[in-house]
Formats: sequence, C-alpha cells, structure tokens
Amino acid sequence: METRSLRDDEVMKRKLLIIGWDGASFIALDGLIERGCLPTLARLRANGFSAPLNSTLPPVSAPAWTSFITGKNPGKHGIFQFYEVNPWSPKALGRGQRTHMAVPGVVVNSRSIGEAKFWELMSAAGLRLALINLPMTYPPAPINGLMITGMLTPPGARQFTYPPELAEALPPYEIDLNPREKDFSSPDAQFLRRIRDVLAKRTRVALELFRRERWDCFVVIFTETDRLQHRYWHIVDPRCDASEWAHIEADVVDVYRQLDRALAELVRLAGDEYDVLVLSDHGFGPAAIKRLNFSALAERLQLFVSTGGWERNVRRAFNRISSSKRRIYKYLTPLVPERFLHRAEAGLKTLARRGVKAKLIKLHDYIGGVWINTTEHPGGVIEPGPPYEALRTQLMNRLAAVRDPATGKPIIIDVRRREDVYHGPYTTAAPDIIFILDDEYGIETGGRSSELILRIPQKNQGTHRREGILIMSGRAVRPNVQMARANPTAPGIEDVTATMLYLADVPLPEDLDGRVIEEALDEDFLRRRPIRRCSSSRRPSPDVASEVWESAEEEAEIRERLRELGYLE
Ligand SMILES: [Zn+2]
Repeated sequence: METRSLRDDEVMKRKLLIIGWDGASFIALDGLIERGCLPTLARLRANGFSAPLNSTLPPVSAPAWTSFITGKNPGKHGIFQFYEVNPWSPKALGRGQRTHMAVPGVVVNSRSIGEAKFWELMSAAGLRLALINLPMTYPPAPINGLMITGMLTPPGARQFTYPPELAEALPPYEIDLNPREKDFSSPDAQFLRRIRDVLAKRTRVALELFRRERWDCFVVIFTETDRLQHRYWHIVDPRCDASEWAHIEADVVDVYRQLDRALAELVRLAGDEYDVLVLSDHGFGPAAIKRLNFSALAERLQLFVSTGGWERNVRRAFNRISSSKRRIYKYLTPLVPERFLHRAEAGLKTLARRGVKAKLIKLHDYIGGVWINTTEHPGGVIEPGPPYEALRTQLMNRLAAVRDPATGKPIIIDVRRREDVYHGPYTTAAPDIIFILDDEYGIETGGRSSELILRIPQKNQGTHRREGILIMSGRAVRPNVQMARANPTAPGIEDVTATMLYLADVPLPEDLDGRVIEEALDEDFLRRRPIRRCSSSRRPSPDVASEVWESAEEEAEIRERLRELGYLE
C-alpha cells in the first residue's frame, strides 16, 4: 500500500513553467486577444483558468515580486518599495528634523528579504530550478539549478548568475534597458527597437536554458511589458484616445506579438508534463495629470509645530506678509525671480518650525503614507500611546476630508491604519497611515506652490494598478474558468506561491500568507493530493538596512537607475 501511494505522489508531482509579464493587465490583453495578436495566451486562457491577480500595496515590482518569492505580505517580508521607506532609518536620506517629507532610504536587494524564498523550499526538497530575470534576486545565491538575476542588478555587475560561470557561457544577454533609455526621451523607433532587442535576447537565453534539462520549476520574467506600458499605455488601453499615437501603434502591438511567440516556444517545449502559469506583479492604468501637492497637504494636515520666542515672531511676520503676499509678489516679481521668492518663503517657514508631528511619504504615484513623529525618533514630538492614537485618528479624518477645490470631489478614496493593511513583524516598518488617491490624481512631492492641486504633465503615459493577471493551464488546472475583473474574491500574488509549492508537491510552511488557489485546480487532482503543511519557514530577521550593498558606488548607481525609472524624485 505504502509503495503504491508513494508512486502516486510521484506521478502527481507537477512540473512548473512560470512566465511573468511584468505589469500585464487584462484591460490591455483582452483587446489584443480579441484582435488575434496573442494566440498562445488566448489558447492558454481558453483551456485553463484565468483571474485578476491582486498585487501588494503599493503595487510596485519590489514588494509584489517579493510577495511572489515568499508567499507572504510585506508585513512579513519587509519590502515595501525599491528602497527602505522608514525615514528614521540610519541610512535614510534625511532632509532634517523639520521637514514634512520622508525621503527614501537604502535601496533593497535579495539579502533584504526577511523570509524563506520559494526556491529555497524547492531546492531543499531536491527540485531542480531555473530562475531568469526575477526582480529582487540580486545578488545571486546558491540554488539547486541556476539563476540569472533581474531588476535592481547594478549596471555592469559581473556576478549576476548562479553558478557564477553561467554568465560567461550565455549568448548575448541584457538584464534591462539602460537608465537613459528608460527616461523615455529617446525617439520612439529607437526605444521600440531596443525593447525588441532586449526581449529577443532574453527569449533566446530562456529557450536555451529550458532545453538543458527537464526542470521541476522554470521561471522567466519579461519586464518589457512594464517598460513599454509606462511609455505607451494609451495605445493599448481601449478607454484612452490614442489617435495621436496611430503612427506607432502597430510597432507597439508587435512587441506583444513577440512576447506571445516567446510564450508559444516555451509552452511547446514544455509539453504536457508541465503546468503553465502566466502572471503579472501588478496591473496598469493611465497616469494622472492632476497632482496632489504634498507641501500644501502638509499645511492642511497641520503637521508643523511652531516655535516659541523670536522664531514665533518670524512666523507671525511671515503670516502677515502672507496675507498680502500676492500684492508683494506682483510688486517684486519684475525685480526678483518668483522662484527665489518661493524659496525665501519656504526658508522662513522652516525657520518658524520646531518640528513636525508627522512626515508624508510617496509610496507610489497615487499611494501615500504618513509617518507619525513620535518621541521614539530623534527630534520626535508626539508621545507614544494615546497621544499617538489620537493624532493618527485626527490625521486619517483630515486626509479623508481632502477635496479638490475645483470640483469639490474627495481626492483620497481610502485611508487605512498600517496594521489593517499589513501583518507580521515588519508592519512597524511601514508608515503609520496608508492612503490611496482617486485614479484621477497623482502625488507631487517637489511642488513649492501653496496650491493643493497642481497640473503637471506626466512623463509617463501609464502607471501601475493593483489588478494584474493570472492565467493557468495544464493537467492539474480546471479548464474553462474565467474569473471576471474587479472580483472581490480574486487571488493575490502570494497565493500563486502557495499554489506553486502545492503543485510541485512541497509542503506549505504554516506561516505562509498565500493560499492554494483551489478554484483554479482540477477537483480530482485536489482530492487525490491533499495539501501538505509543515512548520514555519521563518528565519532570523535580517535588518533591512544592513550591509546589503558592496560599495557606495554600487548603491549610487542603483539610485541613479531608480531616478531614471521615476521611483526616486
Ligand atoms: Zn513599472
């Protein structure tokens, strides 16, 4: 009996082909499928299971792919952005105690992830893995198989593979566009040519490595979708007017066709032995032009603590000037540039402050956070306990009440306590309050004006949204199930990890946040293969800001890349 059940288990262990399309959204893909541009994706979807896939908050590649890597929420894995978000961290780029703006800390990498990774669990179970271009994998670490690191690999890094000698044996390969190419100032034709070139190289390497052996789990992430959509989202979103882009529409759509051909090749090589999962780390939508000005928001939230004595007089004097500011500006502007006056005004304001009750942080284009400046931090002004809770509630109410002066409509549509968004030991590494803006608005952190809403044209056409994609196909997958968009029971990205472990017959650690997506799986398969669990996978928590970078130059390079990508101001 025992031998027989073991044999069954072996037969039932599924091999996995995981393909990531970074930032893919059904908003765009549905239209492209209808037009016949994505025949392979359409077939996988028609034969299998598909659903919207919820990303992390914020829906950004670093936390989202880390949730995929660990099967856990950011409160457990500790990654909230491409950089450490805590403004009081020793490595944060502080701008002084009196500023209301929280600025990014150290850039994260694979060593910042405070939890077991799925490939560690699979490697320990003796499974053979290949990982290509998964963000957050640099610096590479030993794996039972091979790894080519992904986004956040420093440009020019020599060690970007495991084993290290794999790098020399690869055909020509590029991890990503270079920083200058990502600022989207290059001519369209040149940008599209480069996207296709990088994509072709990645496809070639993926196919070559896939052929090397019958991998138990093969993962390749294509980031070209994200790069393309930041610049050309309007072309593929049927809700947008793309008439002025008509001349390059066919070329943009061709990139998706090329992706579908790469998918076709991989699926063909995989055959029936594999279950195929196609997923994105987040979705996409149009970028906003109206921007909520954080400087004006800070005033409105009354974040500043005024000083006493002579400094108070400065503030009073400033307030008097302020009332007749317009007149004074009008009088002085011909003599002194307005920019200078604004700067002088900002300087006076800062002088008149003793500190801030809280700091604002931009977590993503339309997602903000508030850090309360408790006395636990240097220069803190708010006592922990009841005074902290009272201020937090007050700030949440003020945030929810912020309206667009032009339309009277609320700007902030969701305000939450951090413990209502995250859970786990890193929850306190997140801002005390998380707030989400209406789709029409973005966040402006560099505005000097006192206007609440600024109209600043977006450099990007598209930005991330929370709803991504999941398509599953294979023998273990339930056929012909398509879950509609905007479904409240849609799976989250951490559920994909639990499902992968289950399919590969690896026990699920009990502290995993993700669940097996049973609605996506064949009923008979589920009945014959009960979900196995094991004790916690948690390891001693590393300090997110610990010595994760080899050198200051390396981190400076990464910062430069993030700036070009628009993640840093
Ligand atoms: Zn992106």
